[in-house]
Amino acid sequence: MSGIRVLVAGASIAGPALAHWLCRRGAEVTVVERAPELRPGGQAVDARGVTKEVIRRMGLDAPVRAARTETAGANTVDVDGNVLETFRADDDGGDGYISEIEILRGDLSQVLYDDTRDGVEYVFGDRIAELTQDADGVDVAFAGGDRRRFDLVIGADGLHSALRAMVFGPRERFVRHLGLVLAFYSVPNEFGLDRWVIDFQEAESGRSAGLRPIQDATRAMAMFSFPSADFDVDHRDVAAQKDLLRERMAGLGWLTPRILAHLDDTPDFYLDQVAQVVMDRWSSGRVGLLGDAAFSSSPMSGQGTGLALVGAYLLAGELAAAGWDPEAGFAGYEGRMRSFVEANQEIGRLHVRSRDVPGPDAEPSAEPEWDLELIERAINGVELPDYAGVPDSGARAVRAS
Ligand SMILES: Cc1cc2nc3c(=O)[nH]c(=O)nc-3n(C[C@H](O)[C@H](O)[C@H](O)COP(=O)(O)OP(=O)(O)OC[C@H]3O[C@@H](n4cnc5c(N)ncnc54)[C@H](O)[C@@H]3O)c2cc1C
Repeated sequence: MSGIRVLVAGASIAGPALAHWLCRRGAEVTVVERAPELRPGGQAVDARGVTKEVIRRMGLDAPVRAARTETAGANTVDVDGNVLETFRADDDGGDGYISEIEILRGDLSQVLYDDTRDGVEYVFGDRIAELTQDADGVDVAFAGGDRRRFDLVIGADGLHSALRAMVFGPRERFVRHLGLVLAFYSVPNEFGLDRWVIDFQEAESGRSAGLRPIQDATRAMAMFSFPSADFDVDHRDVAAQKDLLRERMAGLGWLTPRILAHLDDTPDFYLDQVAQVVMDRWSSGRVGLLGDAAFSSSPMSGQGTGLALVGAYLLAGELAAAGWDPEAGFAGYEGRMRSFVEANQEIGRLHVRSRDVPGPDAEPSAEPEWDLELIERAINGVELPDYAGVPDSGARAVRAS
């Protein structure tokens, strides 16, 4: 046991994944989550390329596959529901638009939490109120009143990271809004949806509505997007977000009115701007950032979860390999991750641009030319060292699985 104590803020994807690897490398881990319990909801997230290898090394291949949505593919449709284009889950070797491993964000979070809950201290309904670091550690005051000292503190608290604002500066400095807003919530499956995503896009307004199957066949996940030059809705004010969605989707055809009719009876709801986080550094002294807090690539990259899982593996590995020296460990992590992150952020921006709404006099724009080398870099462009010689209490269990 190294005796290293690490505090992680955020229990969604990046936080529990990091907790898994830190525990295996011998650290004592506390995860503090602002919500009173693990947050359900969110749309399907994909695991492609190198992310699948990280899930395998975590020993979580079986539970992740068991929780998959098992989506067969996607059909884009016109306003009357006629199919325009079809994408299949086995296109591109399972790493395509609909990937072979597709799992609801809330289900993946649950898998990661179940895997770590026995070895990690989870504190729900609390958050870091204040922190002060010196050469040897970080003193943390929690909003709930506790005061504790840790060797390292990692922010895995998402796009609107409070830890980032506390240590690195205001959110405006790092968060880039890409001009699109997305919303997701579950509805009763009164639409006869059967393993196929349906997606309707209205070219003139740039708005879209869709439905995707989830494991519970009695329900479906509704998906909406609309362009928006700015975004000033409080990310915690769900009522205001629902009002905004109703207002922006007014007049959109297809099944939209029937889907919107379930806005008030849904048990889950997520709406946020499509934004990226761009920072020169992801660490300052003994405090580091991971996942969307550090390098959100936006949902339009389809790789936010992949970056969080790969980043968690590398961050814990590099810190442990450096004997828990923050400067060397954080430098190793940033060095390995940065070009992988940049490739995914580029994909996210290209996707948003491909949805640009043409002005009234504009020539119809051509589909963007997808650069295959860029896509390969975004899926596989990061080396995963095996960290031979670094303590790993879980290695044998994974080899046996
Ligand atoms: C409820 C929910 C729904 C989502 N739905 C989608 C979706 O539909 N599509 C999509 O592409 N992405 C979605 N995301 C984002 C997606 O999970 C991330 O892009 C990606 O998986 C990286 O995850 P992350 O762990 O870095 O950040 P996030 O998943 O954003 O998790 C951040 C976590 O930190 C917690 N937190 C926030 N502030 C504090 C604080 N001050 N102290 C402690 N904890 C804090 C949050 O409650 C959350 O649990 C959703 C996230 C959440 C939380």
